[in-house]
Amino acid sequence: MDSIRLGKTDMMVSRLGFGGIPIQRVTEEEAVEVVRTCLELGITFIDTANAYSNSEERIGKAISGRRDQLIIATKSTSRDREGMENHLKQSLKQLGVKSIDLYQFHAVNDFDAYNKILDPNGPMAVVQEAKRAGLIKHIGITSHSMDVAKEAVKSDHFETIMFPFNFVVSEAADELLPLAREHDVGFIGMKPLAGGMLDNVNIAFKYLLQFPDVVPIPGVQMTHEIDEIMQVLEGSWQMTEAEQKEMQRIREELGTRFCRRCDYCQPCTEGIPISMVMNIKGFLKRMPLERVFSGWIAAGMEKAVNCNKCGECEPRCPYNLPIMEMVEESSDLYQAEKSKYPEHVASG
Ligand code: SF4
Ligand code: SF4
Repeated sequence: MDSIRLGKTDMMVSRLGFGGIPIQRVTEEEAVEVVRTCLELGITFIDTANAYSNSEERIGKAISGRRDQLIIATKSTSRDREGMENHLKQSLKQLGVKSIDLYQFHAVNDFDAYNKILDPNGPMAVVQEAKRAGLIKHIGITSHSMDVAKEAVKSDHFETIMFPFNFVVSEAADELLPLAREHDVGFIGMKPLAGGMLDNVNIAFKYLLQFPDVVPIPGVQMTHEIDEIMQVLEGSWQMTEAEQKEMQRIREELGTRFCRRCDYCQPCTEGIPISMVMNIKGFLKRMPLERVFSGWIAAGMEKAVNCNKCGECEPRCPYNLPIMEMVEESSDLYQAEKSKYPEHVASG
């Protein structure tokens, strides 16, 4: 597999990376097997997160004995010093490595979070100390907010940016990617299949491969999924006229009902985490059901039933999404799935 340079980190990474979310859903044996298959196919860039339950540990087992040939990235959602120190220690242990190649501030989706991570005595200080100590090699950030992402790229505090990028959510191509190029910040494309919403792997990857300096990190849980992506990589990347038409059709179909998770619609009068609620289909597809029916996801989904249709959110959405209707649909879907799989619902 070809390698590409990840911006100013100067690290060469495989054209495709490995996204570590879905391996939480399968058994440990299957998870280790799928990671190893990806490595055998030439993937050298692996991304995971402290927040992905057992993903780091499973990746650690899979890469044991081959660490030297790989670029390992992980991330922390912590917004304070102590939390960041703990997450970093945990990640090193769970991955079974002496150093992490790319350590990222995870899901920095608003300026409050952005300012917290940059606090001179906070998370950034921890990460910089760890860098000096050789525990991490490079520092990156991930975000769903275009404004935060642009600010982060311009700040020159970060060597990489991870942002949603696929043919439906392609806003990054217009401004963020050119800005990242200007600042030599490596660009990692999250959600190449729109978090499980795009089924047409062929068109999704042909679209992304047009961008020679974007590293997509598809989440893979079964070996046949990576085989399908590899077929695209090994064939012609040129889209036929029929494929272009189909891409346009899917864009039109999904585009008007696709939440970008920018959170411009907030605050909701009922405290509903609208973007999370709208993405429940993706969670149901990619995450273990026990995790979807418990913790912060369950808490958010239980709030969704309280939408009083006040309508305050809709005019704030830059994509004119019918938020009220979509919140209701997502809530109905969640409640229906919960009744279908009571054995996965946390008791108490
Ligand atoms: S319409 Fe529903 S989701 Fe929108 S702000 Fe009101 S309560 Fe929140
Ligand atoms: S509903 Fe609209 S404003 Fe709210 S997160 Fe989604 S895309 Fe952004």
